[in-house]
Amino acid sequence: MSILIVEDELRVRAFLARGLTEEGFRVRESAEGVEAAELLRHERFELVLLDWMLPGMPGLDVLRGMRARRDITPVIMLTARDEVADRIAALNAGADDYLVKPFAFEELLARIRAVLRRVSGRASPLLSHADLTLDPLTRKVVRAGVELSLTAREYALLQFLLEHAGEVVSRTRIVQTVWDHDFETFSNVVEVYIRYLRAKVDEPFGVKLIHTVRGVGYVLRGGP
Ligand code: CA
Repeated sequence: MSILIVEDELRVRAFLARGLTEEGFRVRESAEGVEAAELLRHERFELVLLDWMLPGMPGLDVLRGMRARRDITPVIMLTARDEVADRIAALNAGADDYLVKPFAFEELLARIRAVLRRVSGRASPLLSHADLTLDPLTRKVVRAGVELSLTAREYALLQFLLEHAGEVVSRTRIVQTVWDHDFETFSNVVEVYIRYLRAKVDEPFGVKLIHTVRGVGYVLRGGP
């Protein structure tokens, strides 16, 4: 179980990291919003503790960014703000829970466990096409009974293609969704990642699912 702690106050962060490590969690730390957002785009965590007031980018924006790209990693917001409007804003942005500082470590631990229990019981909306399935909850990708090992970016790209199976998606749409911004100058990044994906998703299985539509983009279709 890996937890990302995003908190700029060193004392609080160190306290949380120590406590959670002692409880058997693997812990990563970040003290800054932009860095945390970047980490979340590239690495998988089981849960995120996210401070609201952060240098770089507010926690709420980090959370909104995650949900906008359909990252459903559970998030508990930590904050000194105790206004009802703030709680509502956090929950509306997709926070799974909200804890007001200062809090007892025992309470945080209880809430972490409650959120993880709730999430593991969530019905997972499986994405599938032909003999390929992707489980957004466990992030497990299986083709023809074989589990595939994808990087975070390959996974995001495949998820996007599966969500639009049968539909031709342009490079621009892919870049905007999977890379989160306009990548005009690096547009061959999509081709590069499509190549990585094909090597894992198509080539070992002999039947192509990822097709290039010349001059337009890509489509996931066909298959056994
Ligand atoms: Ca703070």
